[in-house]
Formats: sequence, structure tokens, C-alpha cells
Amino acid sequence: MVTQVVVIGAGVYGAAVAAGLTRRGARVTVVDAGAPAGGTSGATFSWTNSCGKQPRAYHELSVASMAAHRRLAAETPRGDWYHEGGNLEWADGDDARAKLRAKVEGVLAYGYEARWLDRAEVLRLEPEMAPAELPPDGIAYFPREGWVDPAGLVGHLLATALSGGAEVVRDDAVTGLEVDGAEVRAVRLASGHRLPAAAVVNCAGPQAGRVADLAGLALPMRNTRGVLVYTSPTAVAVSRVVHAPHVHLRPDGHGRLLLHSPEIDDAAQPAADGGYQVPRPAVDRVVEAGTRLYPGLRDVTVREVRVGERPIPGDGLPVLGRAGRLPNFHFAVSHSGATLSVYAGDLVAAEVLGEDRDAELAPYRFDRFDRFGRSDPSDRSDGYAG
Ligand SMILES: Cc1cc2nc3c(=O)[nH]c(=O)nc-3n(C[C@H](O)[C@H](O)[C@H](O)COP(=O)(O)OP(=O)(O)OC[C@H]3O[C@@H](n4cnc5c(N)ncnc54)[C@H](O)[C@@H]3O)c2cc1C
Repeated sequence: MVTQVVVIGAGVYGAAVAAGLTRRGARVTVVDAGAPAGGTSGATFSWTNSCGKQPRAYHELSVASMAAHRRLAAETPRGDWYHEGGNLEWADGDDARAKLRAKVEGVLAYGYEARWLDRAEVLRLEPEMAPAELPPDGIAYFPREGWVDPAGLVGHLLATALSGGAEVVRDDAVTGLEVDGAEVRAVRLASGHRLPAAAVVNCAGPQAGRVADLAGLALPMRNTRGVLVYTSPTAVAVSRVVHAPHVHLRPDGHGRLLLHSPEIDDAAQPAADGGYQVPRPAVDRVVEAGTRLYPGLRDVTVREVRVGERPIPGDGLPVLGRAGRLPNFHFAVSHSGATLSVYAGDLVAAEVLGEDRDAELAPYRFDRFDRFGRSDPSDRSDGYAG
């Protein structure tokens, strides 16, 4: 059976769902209001992990997702988007140290790989770190964690979908959904085009609530912003993800680094052009914290600052799978999408095409929000321009 499916959004989720659908023989159109990987997937720290994720089912979903990245990278000879170099993390202050200890004990109890390192062991892994910036011991190491290059991942997944016959429509927002009873029949685009659909998958990231609204479904979102600082190439060797008290950093390919700190996320302010601006002192603060940790960074230049919007459903957990009241309308929306999307997107694709994935998807169904009541799609279908 070849089913016509419209996937809304070409970030990591839309690309993963589209690849999973075409692999199973569906006819797929991916529609994006902008460019592939131009949304949150283009402005993310993209650390692959299941560190401190609760409840247990969410932890297991994340672990399965890390394994899916590993498999996909292994079966793609020239795939270079996946980097499993491990993650180092330590904390300042009694409260933060107690939290880190509890997190490590929690994941160890779940059978996740984690161990404690001392300063000398960390310096063997990261020889260019300043020893004085490290505590003598109590540094957590998670060897199976890593990071993905999200643009490379989206490119690979969309190429898989295209080779399976998918079409990608860019720079054209979904502005309406034709809903007839308990079925979505078609998707309307800002360009005026109408795409008939046997099924629709909402992969609109931070805009997922607005797209759900077009279908008459109220999905609460509590998105937050994050600031990412991209450096120019540097000779300093950073080989893995590092979570230090005032800076998070990781390699970003070709000698570049990506720096982040939740301490400056609130500095991003809306700009006149519809984007965001980040004051220079906030950027300098993160670079200075990075330079204290890796003194060789003292001459590093900032290539770009991006602001990403974390797509966070109201209760913090992913929203995956079909909507009970509109069973051919599906969701693939979450924070931690860089970790989850390859695996979770494939689960969603399988369910769209009739496979039973209820065991995995049951904890994440949209229906847990449905007590917020149905809104009327008829008065919204043309009002939103993406
Ligand atoms: C600062 C920051 C740090 C993060 N760190 C991590 C991390 O370390 N590890 C991790 O796993 N995750 C992390 N995340 C989260 C992760 O990046 C996201 O969960 C993931 O990128 C979401 O992907 P997506 O495909 O759902 O959304 P997006 O990449 O935003 O894609 C959605 C697409 O939908 C399109 N769209 C929206 N509305 C419409 C419409 N009406 N019509 C057509 N198209 C539409 C948009 O143009 C966009 O391209 C982080 C996020 C941020 C912001």
C-alpha cells in the first residue's frame, strides 16, 4: 500500500519521519516554511544523552535513541555527523555537587554507563584543559554520550527520503488543514497549493502548537530560548562534550567549537528583523569561561551567534504518535530531539503506516493533553502564515 503522507517541518524530526516513511514505501511530501535544518535543528547543542531523564520510560527511549544513532552511523560508510566521544561534567558548590551525585547514582541504577574520574584522568582525555579549573576528583564521565552535526544528519535523512521518492517543498508555510469529521484530508500552503493527504505528521518543532491548532487540537508548549556561540577554527583540541560549571562546549567539526551556557540564555532579545540579538558582553562571558578552561582559546574568534528555540511540550515529555480524536494526524515533537529523532521519528513513521508501536509510544501520546478541549479549526485555518 502506497499512502500519501505530508510531513510538516524539515528539521531532525521531519527528516527522520520522512526517511522512515519512504523506507516503508509511502509517498511523502515534506513541507517547510523555511529551509531544511533552518529551525531549532540549526541552532542546538545537539548532545546525545540520556542523562538524568525521568521517568524511566523516557530514559529508556533516550538510550534506544542513542543506539539508533550508533546503528545509523555504522551502516552509512561516509556518514560523519555522529561523534560518540563521551561527556565530562562537574559541578561547583555543595548543592550542585549533590545533584550531580544523585544524577550519576540514578543512571547507574538504570544500567547506564557512567564513572567518576579524577583530575589526572580527565587531563589524559583533555590535555589542553587548565588543571586549576578542574576539581581534584568528582568529575562524571559518560562514555557513550556524544554529539551530532544536525545539518549533516538532516541532509542524510532527507537524501534517504528523496531517494525513496519523497518531495521536499521549502519556503512555503502550512497555513491550513482541511479536517473532515475525524480525518485530515488535505494541507493548504501559503503559496495557495493544496496537498491531499492520507496522513499528516506534525514535525513543526517550536511551532508544533500552532500547527496542532490548525487541526483543532490544543497542544500546550512552553518553549525556551538558548544562545549558541560558534567559533572559527582553532588549534585547541577539544575532543568531546564538556559540561563545566559556567560553560558547556563541544567540537563542531573542522576545528571549530560550539559554546553554550544557560547563564546567558536570557540575554537573547527580539530584534527588529524578527530574529534575536545577543549583547556582546553576554557572548564574551561564555568565551571567557571557555578560555579559562582551555587557555589556548585566548585568541579564538566568534564566527556566529545563533538563538534556538527549544520545542518543549507542556509537561516536558515528547509528544509522539497519532492523536486519538484525529487518528491520521500524528505528532513528532520534543525537546532533546537531536538525541531522540532518529529512533522516535522512525517509530512514528511505522505507526503512520499501520505498524503496532503502541508499547513504545503509549507514554507520549498527545491524548494526555486532550482534557484542554477541542478548539475549532475552521476559524484558524487561514490565519497563520508560519
Ligand atoms: C539551545 C538549545 C540546545 C539544545 N541542546 C540539545 C542537546 O544538547 N541535545 C538534544 O538532543 N537536543 C537539544 N536541543 C533540542 C533539539 O535541538 C530540538 O529538540 C530539535 O532540534 C527539534 O527538531 P524539530 O525537527 O522538532 O524542530 P525544528 O528543527 O525547529 O524543525 C521544525 C521545522 O518546522 C518548520 N515549520 C514550523 N511551522 C511550519 C509551518 N506552519 N509550515 C511549514 N513548516 C513549518 C520550521 O521552519 C522548521 O524548519 C537543544 C535546543 C536548543 C534551542
